[in-house]
Amino acid sequence: MLAERVKKIKPSPTLAIDSKAKAMKASGVDVISFGVGEPDFDTPEHIKDAAIRAMKEGFTKYTAVGGIDPLKDAIIEKLQKDNGLSYKRDEILVSCGAKHSLYNIAQALYGPGDEVIIPSPYWVSYPDQVLLNDATPVFVRTYEADSFVLKPEALEAAVTPRTKALILNSPSNPTGMLYDRKALEKIAALAVKHNFYVVTDEIYEKLVYDGACHISIASLGEEIKALSLVVNGLSKSHAMTGWRIGYTAGPAAIIKAMTNIQSQSTSNPNSIAQKAAVAALTGPQDFVAMMHGEFDKRRKYLVEQLNTIEGMTCRMPAGAFYAFPNTSKIYGRRFGDRVIAGSNDLALYLLEEAKVALVHGAAFGDDDYVRLSYATSLEDIIRGVQRIREALGNLKAGK
Ligand code: PMP
Ligand code: GLU
Repeated sequence: MLAERVKKIKPSPTLAIDSKAKAMKASGVDVISFGVGEPDFDTPEHIKDAAIRAMKEGFTKYTAVGGIDPLKDAIIEKLQKDNGLSYKRDEILVSCGAKHSLYNIAQALYGPGDEVIIPSPYWVSYPDQVLLNDATPVFVRTYEADSFVLKPEALEAAVTPRTKALILNSPSNPTGMLYDRKALEKIAALAVKHNFYVVTDEIYEKLVYDGACHISIASLGEEIKALSLVVNGLSKSHAMTGWRIGYTAGPAAIIKAMTNIQSQSTSNPNSIAQKAAVAALTGPQDFVAMMHGEFDKRRKYLVEQLNTIEGMTCRMPAGAFYAFPNTSKIYGRRFGDRVIAGSNDLALYLLEEAKVALVHGAAFGDDDYVRLSYATSLEDIIRGVQRIREALGNLKAGK
């Protein structure tokens, strides 16, 4: 018999769609994938070389549970340089991807009776990680008309004596929303006033466009820093999704608890990947700028095109690599006997009829939308948009 907690969760929908698209491709179907959020660029050579060197030098054994000192130091330097944040080694934990960092936080902080506030639309793993730790996710809806920014009034209305933490994600997956300093200051003031933690997932920080600037809420003062757990990783910034390196910076006592959890679950993150991560953080950063430039071109093209498809409207995202068009006007239309009743039906229809994979908005807590990752080649984006346009053109008005 399975434990009760397992019955509350589902597989990651983004990973499930990616597996389905990959299986279709493997069986010879020409699927265009806007599904998973994974840079299509290869990991830069100098990073791979560092990993090869590590293996050749026999750096293939257990390391310190929380990560090797040179990697912690590279992370400390990065946080200082990019985010204006000062941390010591005992305030850093390296884990097996940012998802694992978030999970360690969940295990260390959340328990029965605790409430964790999650602005919606949200990234798919936040609610399930809360549920896996017997706590309650409390969703606070954000709206397209407000650029999906969490309103302080809405946040405060959701706070109770049981509120343990707020999970913030800026730039956001899936909306592409980016908080400015003013909005963060208001949220920080509420966290300090009501004494809850802020889990700040900054994995897309390098992907902000139009001259905008990413700000870490933890950098807004000592009081909010003491309540912040800054989560970041190498997956998106350095095209290293498979290497599984993420990290948390936060108060030493929490980092210690998380390190103990890690020592009893995964032990250290992969030793070779840690050496590669040192090279990624301390080596040349021109790759990051190149990738950013490419994503920016695709972002503009994709969003412009989506807005020319009848039934869809799409905001220009300020960050990350996702377009999040509103598709609610399409709901109710028909294809033969089939009714497109919501985002799930739409995603399935597009996968089956147009051979285009994207993620239904319901997976992120908002059925009015679908998510397209533009971390895929411009060529595929051009072909994919054409297929979507044609498939939607084949739908008939509902009765
Ligand atoms: N946070 C967000 C918002 C994400 O989109 C992802 C996607 N991979 C992660 C965390 C986890 O990244 P990883 O575990 O690959 O570091
Ligand atoms: N974060 C990516 C996404 O949202 C990767 C998938 C996952 O980790 O769930 O597509």
